[in-house]
Amino acid sequence: MGRFWQRWLEWASPPRVADGSAASLLDQEQQRRGVLLAFLAVMVLPFYVVLYPFSLFPRLIPGFLVALTLCGTMQVIAVLLNRQGRVREAGMLFLSGVLTGCTIGLFGTPPQSLSLSMMVYVLLAVVIVEAGLLLGQVGTLACAVIVCGVVSLHVFQNASVLPHVSPLVSFSAFQLVVTLCIILLFLSGLVCMSEATIARMMQEVYQIGQAHAQLEMHHEKVAEQAEQLAAMNSQLLAVHAELEAQYRALEAANAQLAALATTDGMTGLANHRAFQEELTHQIARVSRSRAPLALMLLDVDHFKHYNDTFGHPAGDEVLKGVAQILSTRVREGDYAARYGGEEFAVILQDTDAETALLVAERVRAAVEAFPFPNRQVTVSIGVALYAAGENADAVIERADVALYEAKSAGRNRVVYLPAVGCSHQGSCAGDARATQKPSLTAASAGYTEPRIESALAVPKPEDTVWHGEGPRGYPHDIIRLLGGLEGLLQEAPAPILLALIDIMDQRSAESWGHSVRVTRYALRLCRAVSALYEELRTVRPLLPRLTPGDLADLAFGALLHDIGKMGIPDAVLRKRGRLTDEEWRQIRRHPLAGAELIASNALLARALPVIRYHHERWDGTGYPQGLRGEAIPLPARIFAVCDTFDTLTVSQVYRDHVSFSEAQAEIQRGAGTQFDPDVVQAFLTVSEEEWCYLASPWTVAPPVASVVPQAA
Ligand code: GH3
Ligand code: MG
Ligand code: MG
Repeated sequence: MGRFWQRWLEWASPPRVADGSAASLLDQEQQRRGVLLAFLAVMVLPFYVVLYPFSLFPRLIPGFLVALTLCGTMQVIAVLLNRQGRVREAGMLFLSGVLTGCTIGLFGTPPQSLSLSMMVYVLLAVVIVEAGLLLGQVGTLACAVIVCGVVSLHVFQNASVLPHVSPLVSFSAFQLVVTLCIILLFLSGLVCMSEATIARMMQEVYQIGQAHAQLEMHHEKVAEQAEQLAAMNSQLLAVHAELEAQYRALEAANAQLAALATTDGMTGLANHRAFQEELTHQIARVSRSRAPLALMLLDVDHFKHYNDTFGHPAGDEVLKGVAQILSTRVREGDYAARYGGEEFAVILQDTDAETALLVAERVRAAVEAFPFPNRQVTVSIGVALYAAGENADAVIERADVALYEAKSAGRNRVVYLPAVGCSHQGSCAGDARATQKPSLTAASAGYTEPRIESALAVPKPEDTVWHGEGPRGYPHDIIRLLGGLEGLLQEAPAPILLALIDIMDQRSAESWGHSVRVTRYALRLCRAVSALYEELRTVRPLLPRLTPGDLADLAFGALLHDIGKMGIPDAVLRKRGRLTDEEWRQIRRHPLAGAELIASNALLARALPVIRYHHERWDGTGYPQGLRGEAIPLPARIFAVCDTFDTLTVSQVYRDHVSFSEAQAEIQRGAGTQFDPDVVQAFLTVSEEEWCYLASPWTVAPPVASVVPQAA
C-alpha cells in the first residue's frame, strides 16, 4: 500500500527541480502543492463512492452518474495538468470538480441522512483548506464564499423538513453548520495569512537570491577590477621607484650645482659670489657683536708676464698652488676665496689689524718660498679692517687701495690701509670717524697721487730686499742680487722715464707735459667713473667694476698713447697747412702703428687698449676700426675725454687754449657722439680746482728747453 501510494505521488506530482537557485525554491513550493493535490485527488474519491450510491441511487441515478462522470473527468484532467507542472490550473479544476460533486451531493441528500450531510460538510471544510493550500488567498476566499452559499442553501432547503426530525438534532445540525462555517472562515484566514507570509518569504528569498546573484556578479567584476588595480599598482610602484631614483639623481645634481655655484672650479676655493655673500654676512654679524673683522686682498705679481712666458696651463698651476697655500695658511674660521683672475681674498674673523698683518705676511712668505716650477712667484697683499657703519664695498675698496699701494711700492709685500680716522694698528670698529669716506681731494692725495709718484719714484734699497727664506735653497746673496736687478728693471728710474716721455711728446708735436698730464687726468677720471658706476649700479647692474688692472692699463696707455706717431715724418706731423689725403692716412694710422710697436713687449702691452682705440668715437665714426659704443675698451673711452680736455686747455702749435668752462661745454657737446655719455657725466663731477691741481706741475712753469719746437 505504501509503495502504491509512493508511486502514485511520484506519478501524479509535477516534475521536481532542485538546483538550489531562487527559481528552484519557487519550483519546490509548486512541487509541494502538486504533491498535496495528488494526495487529495485520491483521498476525495471514497467520498464520491460513499456519497453517491447511498444517497442518490434510489431517485436520480442518471443525473448523478452524469455528475459523477463530470467530477471524475475534471479530477482526472486536474491530475494530468498537475503532472505537467501546471499546478495552479490543476488546483482550480480539481476544486471546481470537488465543489460540483459536493453541491450535487448536498442537494441530492435526503433530509434524514444527517450523517451524510455531515460528511459533505467535512468534505467542504477539507476543500477550503485545500483551496488555501492550492490556490492561495483568492482561491480560498472564493471557495469559502461558495461553500457558505451552498451550505446556507442546503440548510434553508431542508428547513421545511425540520418538523419531521427531532428539533434538538435539527437545531444542532444547523448550529454545527454555522459553527463549522465560522471555523472554516477562521481557518481559511489563517491559511491566507500563512500563504501571504510564505509568499512574502518566497519574495524575500527570491530577492535575496537576486541580490546574491547580483552580488556575485559584482564580486566577479570587483575581482576583475582588483586584478587590474593590482597590475596598475605594480606599474605605479615601478614608476614610483623610477621617479625616486630620478629624484635622487636630481638631488645629487642639485647639490653639485649648488656647490658649483659657490665654488671656483679651478682652485676649489669659494668663488666671487660666495665671497661677497660671506663678507656681507660677516659684516652684519660684527656690526652687532662689534668684534673686529679684517679683509685681505691678494694679487699674484707679474702674472701676465708669467702666462705670456710659460703659458696659461703653467699659470693655472700657479693659481692652484697659491690657492693651496692660502687654504693651509689661514686659520680655521677664516674664509679664503678666489676673487677673480689672479686675485684672492680672505675674510679674517675676529681679527685685529696686527693679527691680520701677521697672517698676511705668513701667506706672502709661504708663496715666496714655494718651489713653483719655472720661476719664483710672489704676491702683493692689501689688508683693511672693517670700520663701523661701512658696507662690504667700502672695505673691499680700502683693501684694494692697500693692494695697489703694495704693487706701487715694489710688489711682494703686505700693506695695511687704515680707515680714515683710525690708528695704523688699532681696530677701527666703533670709531665714528671711520665711517666717513675719504674726500675727493684726500683721495687725490692719498690714492691717485702716490701711484703716479711711486710709479715714477726711485725704489728705496729696502724695497728690493727679498722677504723670508730663499726659494729652492739658493744662497740669500744671489737671490738678493737677482731681486735687486729685477726690481731695477721693473721700476724704471723716474727721471729717465720722464725724459723719455718728454721726448715722445716733443716728437709727436704735443704740448710739453701732455702725456703725464693726461695720465693724471685719466686716473682721476677713472675714479670718478668708478664712483658714478657704483651710484648707477642699482638701476644698471651690468655696469663693469674697474679693477687695479684697468687703472694700470689706463696709466700705461695714457703715458704711451702717441707712441705710434714715432713713425710719422716730421713734415707731416708739424705741417701747418691742409693735409693731403695721404698725409691724413699716415696720421690716422698712428694708433695701429703704436699698437704694433709695443705688442711684443709684455710689460708695455697693457697700454694696448688705449693706444689702439683712443681715436675711436662713441658713435662709430672714429678710427682706426670705427668701433661703436661699449665695443671701445673703457680705458680708451676715459682717455679720449682727457686727451681732448688737455688739447683744449693747453695752447697748441696751431691754436690757442680755451677757458675751463669752454672746454667743459665742448666736451659736454661731444657726449653721445664723440664720447661715452657716462664718462662725460663723471667728468662733470670733478671740480675745476681739481683739474687745475692735476694740471699744475706741468703747466705752471714749463721749462724753456721743453717748449715744443715749431715746424720749419
Ligand atoms: P701685477 O703684478 O700688477 O698684478 O701684474 P699682473 O700681470 O699680475 O696683473 P694683470 O692684471 O695685468 O694680469 C692678470 C693676468 O692674469 C691676466 C690674465 O691673463 C691672467 N689670468 C687671469 N685669470 C687667469 C686664469 O684663470 N688662468 C691663467 N693662467 N691666467 C689668468
Ligand atoms: Mg690682477
Ligand atoms: Mg697680478
